[in-house]
Amino acid sequence: MKVAIAALLQETNTFSPQATVRGHFLMTPGHELIESHKTENSEIHGFVDALTEAGAQIMPILGGWAVSYGRIRAGDFQSLLDDLMEGIRKAGPLDGLLLALHGAWAGEGIDSCDGAILRELRALLGPSVPIVATLDLHANLTRTMWENADALVGYQTCPHVDLYDTGRRGADLMVSLLRREVRPTMHAVKIPMVVQAENMLTDRGEFRRIYDHVRSLEGQGTTISASVFAVQPWMDVEELGWASLVVTNDDPDRARSQADELARFIWSVRKSFVISLPSVDEALEEAMSIPGGPVVLGEGADGTMGGAPGDGTSILAGILKKRIDAPVAAVVVDPGAVEKAVRAGVGKPVTLRVGGKLDPDYATPVRVTGKVKLISDGEFRYKGRVYTGRLVRMGRAVVLAIGRIRLLISERPVPTTDPELYRSHGIEPRDMKLVLVKSPLGMRTEYEPIARSIIIVNSPGCCSPDLTSLPFVRMPRPMFPFDEFDYSPPE
Ligand SMILES: [Zn+2]
Repeated sequence: MKVAIAALLQETNTFSPQATVRGHFLMTPGHELIESHKTENSEIHGFVDALTEAGAQIMPILGGWAVSYGRIRAGDFQSLLDDLMEGIRKAGPLDGLLLALHGAWAGEGIDSCDGAILRELRALLGPSVPIVATLDLHANLTRTMWENADALVGYQTCPHVDLYDTGRRGADLMVSLLRREVRPTMHAVKIPMVVQAENMLTDRGEFRRIYDHVRSLEGQGTTISASVFAVQPWMDVEELGWASLVVTNDDPDRARSQADELARFIWSVRKSFVISLPSVDEALEEAMSIPGGPVVLGEGADGTMGGAPGDGTSILAGILKKRIDAPVAAVVVDPGAVEKAVRAGVGKPVTLRVGGKLDPDYATPVRVTGKVKLISDGEFRYKGRVYTGRLVRMGRAVVLAIGRIRLLISERPVPTTDPELYRSHGIEPRDMKLVLVKSPLGMRTEYEPIARSIIIVNSPGCCSPDLTSLPFVRMPRPMFPFDEFDYSPPE
């Protein structure tokens, strides 16, 4: 049993002002892939453990992961695809291919990079070599994807703590397929809806009911795997929308009826995801009325995991304008400001105009004067349950002390959901009154245990919770919540 494994993941925000380029990807060559994932909560780690237990020969091809930006440049996508194809060619004859993809990756002239990858690999390997891919729960499932894979398996948690488990589920399916214990039959249904990200939490509300139901289907009768893909909403593509997908063992009728049933249930609860959020002023007033701390302020519209540049200044400007006198941890992306602070040196005073340069439609620079507290290489590793162990590189970073505010300025956007972002730079979130994170929900896993309260703020940005404020043109219509219409998933 010779199985190739590879990972290539990015979630694209087509409204982002910055194109994705190859240099944004943290790449791991094949010969380092297994070792480098041994301590990570990742699909690759799950693949490796399940395949090893099954006695399979593992052919590691490559791994790549990038923070969200806009559509990837066409040539850069092609070069990543070429490397993947070349690696698989060199691996020689294969019995199967296991891939970790995101599912919401778009490029210049390509609405579904994940679909393009699966189509090319299918053409290379032919119909008889099984391909199983894992996908993020925020994938935008496309026809090319399900037509060119034997099975697709999605995460079942948000925030995503089940990357390893999803990898194992995909690999277990591959092993039983290669042992001819199962013959996967798959059915997918697209649902004409997108929803705000803020309520996509699998430990509460309707989202929990959906994923509890998805999990309950697995292993029942002929059902091998069930997935719901609640697409991230900042994607203007032709096949936009949620999807349900069920994989059964040689039972296409059951795959169809269960995927249809999931689609009907999801459509029936769509309105429960609509929320209204406080403005910056309202959020700051509420935060300061709460005794103690920390109060986490989620600047979701500038969400770095959703493709925003991370240089939004709405909340920081609000704190400065209100002259809030309390310990605050804040973060902003600004390579020019980092350069000036580095040149000034530790302990020196600087005046900077920070942020608001990468996406001038939504943010303006803020003038701050403070002391350079710390200069770093901007590297840290996740310590929490999400992406445990993953290395993060934000370029050079500086901490500026502005009164009681500690402003972490980085050269590049990185996920801000793990307190380790601040801790690795000498800032303890527990000691703060206010902690800013650039995320609509991903911070909850690590911050709910330590935060007095979490307030998600409605501010401008290309990850705006106000979806109707974004310039969609390619998505299919009608689409909830943009249009009033009736939709009946197939009976
Ligand atoms: Zn996701």
